[in-house]
Amino acid sequence: MTPRSFAELGLPPSVLNAAREAGFIEPTPIQVAAIPPGLAGRDVLALAETGSGKTAAFALPLLAMALEAPAAAGPRGLVLAPTRELAVQTAETLRGLAAALPRRLKIGLAFGGVSINPQLMALRGGCDLMVATPGRLLDLIDHNGLTLAHVRTLVLDEADRLLAAGFEAEWRRIEGLLPATRQTGLFSATFPAALQGLAEGLLRDPLRIALASAPPDIRQRCIQVDAAQRTPLLRHLLATEGWQRVIVFVATRYAAEHVSDKLWAHGIQAAALHGELSQGGRAEVLAALQSGRVRVLVATDVAARGLHIPALDAVVNHELPRSAADYTHRIGRTGRMGHAGTAVSFVCADSPTNAESHFRLIEKRQGQRVPREQVRGFEPRAVASEMQATGGIEGRRPSKKDKLRAAGLHPPNGSTA
Ligand code: AMP
Repeated sequence: MTPRSFAELGLPPSVLNAAREAGFIEPTPIQVAAIPPGLAGRDVLALAETGSGKTAAFALPLLAMALEAPAAAGPRGLVLAPTRELAVQTAETLRGLAAALPRRLKIGLAFGGVSINPQLMALRGGCDLMVATPGRLLDLIDHNGLTLAHVRTLVLDEADRLLAAGFEAEWRRIEGLLPATRQTGLFSATFPAALQGLAEGLLRDPLRIALASAPPDIRQRCIQVDAAQRTPLLRHLLATEGWQRVIVFVATRYAAEHVSDKLWAHGIQAAALHGELSQGGRAEVLAALQSGRVRVLVATDVAARGLHIPALDAVVNHELPRSAADYTHRIGRTGRMGHAGTAVSFVCADSPTNAESHFRLIEKRQGQRVPREQVRGFEPRAVASEMQATGGIEGRRPSKKDKLRAAGLHPPNGSTA
């Protein structure tokens, strides 16, 4: 029988109480699957979406372990996260749960982009559990602020990203500083084949958890529109779809600010969220969205990972993400914990980065086809030859004028189709 209560998962009474205090009544499927092996010290490889309750799935066993472990000169548990947002959220979850425990546990937090000194100060006297982004963790170690020699349990959250090319050198260094004998948990929404060998090498006889269920309730839509009409179409959707909280994804900081300004100019409360915002600035923007002071966040991908925004109605891909994995992460911001969500992607025949062919690759990787739509009043004028090739628009071959437009050139005489 599948356990239906936290009490059946083997958590010690104080941690069980902490889960109850956090308002967790029934464990989510990932918690049912990952908590018992986590408590038993077993390695875990878990395919788990953000929103599935995965943070608590590793946080509760980590807290149980830290409560048992004798004090040491360094943390007994380490959680690595690829972004500061995710690190902050994870530390907050751990701290929230730890507040209800009988013994005070210190949860360290470190991420880059801010001065290292306060983080060094905060680590004086050690900590029980540490949450960090890889680069700043290494900086702290280089400043003698921290040792990894006592880590018993390591968790890689969004492991696909932590093990990907950009982080590999940092990860290799961290790995070399960790005890060889340890428990390791890898949690990720996606596991690209290219990383499987690397992941396997980190784990001893792991329990593999892939939940077929835990379906997020996301309705996917794909709307064909001309690139220049995307923001007007976005305004139209905001006016007609009844969405209260929305994240719009764009590719650059400039676009985030530009689109957000345009929405403001039309009386829609919007804010930009991107990597160049200060930590305080980001926190403010997120709080404004949570409280309803802001209705639309226009964000770059830095915001896509790890953010938990309760009751987010829709995600709009104003610009398509580069990879199918990013698409999964983006749309996973909505449709969480029983709140139905919508994910809308704009495809534009006249924008190479939003091309139909790119979206088709995303569909292929997802194994799911999303019907194409056009919205009345926003029908695309640009017709890409690739659409013709797949019958994207029936009964119409691209004219010379269409081809010129698709190539970004204006047709002669300023004539409009
Ligand atoms: P995560 O997948 O870790 O981002 O968690 C998503 C959200 O679910 C967080 O806001 C958690 O507080 C919440 N949550 C996690 N586990 C449970 C549970 N067992 N019952 C209710 N809410 C939960």
